[in-house]
Amino acid sequence: MMHWHPTWAEIDVQQLRNNIHTVRNYIGDTLYCLPIKANAYGHGLVDVAKIAVGAGVNYLAVAHASEGVLLRKEGVTAPIFVMGAIHKEQVEDLLKYELEISVSSRLKAELLREQCKKSGKTCKVHLEMDTGMHRTGMRPESTLALFTQLSKDPWFEVIGIYSHLASSDASGKAQIESFHQAFKEIESKAYKPLLRHIGNSSGITDLSGSLCDMVRPALLTFGYGDLEGIAPCFSLKSRVSYFKVVDQGKGISYGSTFFTQKPSRIVTVAIGYGDGYRRDLSNKGQVLIRGKKYPIVGVICMDQCMVDIGQDDVFVGDEVVLIGKQGNQEITLKEIAQLCNTIPYEILCGFNERVPRKYINHS
Ligand SMILES: *Cc1c(COP(=O)(O)O)cnc(C)c1O
Repeated sequence: MMHWHPTWAEIDVQQLRNNIHTVRNYIGDTLYCLPIKANAYGHGLVDVAKIAVGAGVNYLAVAHASEGVLLRKEGVTAPIFVMGAIHKEQVEDLLKYELEISVSSRLKAELLREQCKKSGKTCKVHLEMDTGMHRTGMRPESTLALFTQLSKDPWFEVIGIYSHLASSDASGKAQIESFHQAFKEIESKAYKPLLRHIGNSSGITDLSGSLCDMVRPALLTFGYGDLEGIAPCFSLKSRVSYFKVVDQGKGISYGSTFFTQKPSRIVTVAIGYGDGYRRDLSNKGQVLIRGKKYPIVGVICMDQCMVDIGQDDVFVGDEVVLIGKQGNQEITLKEIAQLCNTIPYEILCGFNERVPRKYINHS
């Protein structure tokens, strides 16, 4: 049972489905793999997995074995690709839960082979080629060499060859070209068709040649990016927990970084950096209450923050929107990320388990 809590993240399920259908129309017959690592970018791992598979996503991807295991235990049967470089301690679970595995070096393949022999199970793998990100993955010539070896190895089923883009500008273009180049050679040595995949969100919207056989657009699916018809499905909401009038010239919150210029109506909101609402927003961020924008004053505390409501009437219990729409006003994730000097991804991943996710179905 979920107990009442004043702060929550709201996921608009119909909008998420719309986004999936919009991306599907855009990619055509290309396989659709949805990366849902880091709690599905804060949207909730298991719920998003189920919604996505129901809406026609073909594949799920996660960063870690533990995320894949959780999905399997929750009854998700779709193919799950674990993208991160593997550790030997994870291999048993990867095989047991039938997760598809990234092989990013000869050593990783050896780890797998050992465990496959031990447990009598074959493994499904995607070979990772480094085309310019220089994070994980093999050089094109090593990818070809390892492919040649593994494609004859009965313990391995090579499902695909993939790479990851470091940018969506000219260097991303060069990555795509070298990926296709190397793939041609690999394909010529293959006994069966291979899935080739490189495109993430910005790759598939900004760079031609990134669609291939499968794509991995996450941020776009969650509603952020350049594709007509998509919209965010995530809102962050809380409630006014306290109201007070503060005299002129008084400091608000720790360290008095804000002083009232006149007698002020200040409300307290039940969210803080302990939820993932970033302290960088102190004296910078705004919130929506009763359809109007108000400034955050003073530093954001771990569990609470303060808002100056001018001369307006606001009541304890009123809904506060920190990200999303209220009335005809909106606070976007992008502006929040900019104020925090970071990218939307980091803000979304930062909302932790203290913030319950509510899935709203408007249909
Ligand atoms: C996270 C991730 C993606 C998704 O990236 P977006 O920019 O959110 O589309 C795709 N591929 C890999 C390997 C990733 O780690």
